[in-house]
Amino acid sequence: MNRFSYARAQSVADAVRLHHATPDAEFLASGTNLVDLMRENVMRPTAIIDITRLPLRDIEATPEGGLRIGALVTNSALAWDARVSERYPLLAEAILAGASAQIRNAATVGGNLLQRTRCLYFCDTATCCNKRAPGSGCGALDGVNRMHAILGASARCIATHPSDMCVALEALDATLHVAGRRGMRALPFDALHRLPGHTPHRETTLADEELITAVELPHEGYARHFTYLKLRDRQSYAFAFALVPVALGLRIEDGVMHTLACALGGVAHRPWRDREAEALLIGRAADDTRAIARYADAMLAQADPRPGNGFKVDLARHAIVRAFELARAHESRPLSAQARGEDSA
Ligand code: SF4
Repeated sequence: MNRFSYARAQSVADAVRLHHATPDAEFLASGTNLVDLMRENVMRPTAIIDITRLPLRDIEATPEGGLRIGALVTNSALAWDARVSERYPLLAEAILAGASAQIRNAATVGGNLLQRTRCLYFCDTATCCNKRAPGSGCGALDGVNRMHAILGASARCIATHPSDMCVALEALDATLHVAGRRGMRALPFDALHRLPGHTPHRETTLADEELITAVELPHEGYARHFTYLKLRDRQSYAFAFALVPVALGLRIEDGVMHTLACALGGVAHRPWRDREAEALLIGRAADDTRAIARYADAMLAQADPRPGNGFKVDLARHAIVRAFELARAHESRPLSAQARGEDSA
């Protein structure tokens, strides 16, 4: 591990100031991702800004009828908050489908949003990787790319975003609250993560020193018809990262879809959503399987897989169709055994 300086931020403004004052600084929350990558020399910050004492651990109702979640709320605390499990069960299930109970007890909401890809080449400093070392090449393009992106990738990077929580937040139309040098700003969740393009090392639209302070959920939580369908190789911590997860919320009235929100994970550098394709389903019968199949086709129309991950296109198509079946039939079921955190080995 390299040498680095350490400072504990006394306030949100202090954290932003300290970060801005030091090139290549990183904020430290739980460190579940950062410390692992520092140990392996994948990340080599020159300064650590400890934000663990900042007052960002509350979950509060908003005047608009939503919830505001502090960035330092742990994944477990969020998933088991009664307001979340009752009003936003899609989010609770997504969180509990990820990682292990131990990691969820430590990992924070803000850190989850900013976690790095699990691309094997990114994590192995003996290989080339444009994200870790810009301009060095991409080992995954012609290497082992079974887990990699089929949508929105570039000739520089085909990595996927690993978070389950983010797939649910994309579907829920969350808003981020961000502190920067010019004060606070609100950012639609959809505008946080970038596609890789020519600069895969730039993963978000945040300025270096900007700090996510909270995630806000709108009133609509799709508590009645929802599913988080996570397809992965094995249901165990070691294989926790998804091949294709689908987060789906539906509002069905008189058998007709009035609103819907569907996001895919595991297929791109960011959670993937196609609002134009969604609009074609509004007003359709909730069991119109042909329209749903067309929607799945539209969502995957731009898929451009590599030799190792062509199977993901069909897998995603079937997962979307299955997610609609589950959400349609899904009326306030209790959290599944998997969602309760009973991880299998
Ligand atoms: Fe690096 Fe992206 Fe290529 Fe993986 S896919 S090796 S993260 S450039």
